[in-house]
Amino acid sequence: MRLAAAAAAAGLVAACQPVTTTEPVARPAPGLVALPCEARGALRPVSTSYCARHRHYVTEPALAALSDAAAGVARRHPGAVVLFMEASWPRGEKPMPPHVSHGDGRQIDLALFYATRDGRPLASPPTASGYGAFEPPSREAERVCVPDSGHHDRPDPPAGRGWRLDDERTAELIRMLSADSRVRRIFVEPHLKQRLGFGGDPKVRFAGCAVARHDDHIHIDFH
Ligand SMILES: [Zn+2]
Repeated sequence: MRLAAAAAAAGLVAACQPVTTTEPVARPAPGLVALPCEARGALRPVSTSYCARHRHYVTEPALAALSDAAAGVARRHPGAVVLFMEASWPRGEKPMPPHVSHGDGRQIDLALFYATRDGRPLASPPTASGYGAFEPPSREAERVCVPDSGHHDRPDPPAGRGWRLDDERTAELIRMLSADSRVRRIFVEPHLKQRLGFGGDPKVRFAGCAVARHDDHIHIDFH
């Protein structure tokens, strides 16, 4: 979950910058492990900046659940890679700004899957940070939050953009995670919950209008 205020914008900007220096490696808090940072495998960072900035720590069960989900998606969709953005810092304390809930290893933001307008899968989101490629509601009536509420103030992308949400692969990822007992809940916008077929799934929830939009990424909470 991300705050969509100025602090969040600052975080996004930082996440988009090329990393020229690496912060000192900190010893993670007990129970936290690092997510894989290599450019191979079914689970990878959207950008190596998340690893260089040490925002890639999770609990061991969370890592196992994410690895299982990524392997499951890749089985159904060969070549599909689950890409992560912000998880937790190594100190294991909440909150980890600009987020309201990350920090103790039980949260992660995952990229949605995207495709070209003619349906060819994209390997990664159309933004460098993985955030910000919003999939708008198909009908305005499905928009729950007032756009200028201050927390849902990020605009929809242009109608003529060259990409769209890959419903099938995104739904597969959510399905894998929802079926995992180590996953507590998954935040997505209400219009995507319905559109992707999770209307009756109590684990797939709306985070509310007081936090950032969840139609450019999904947020996972682990037990
Ligand atoms: Zn989050």
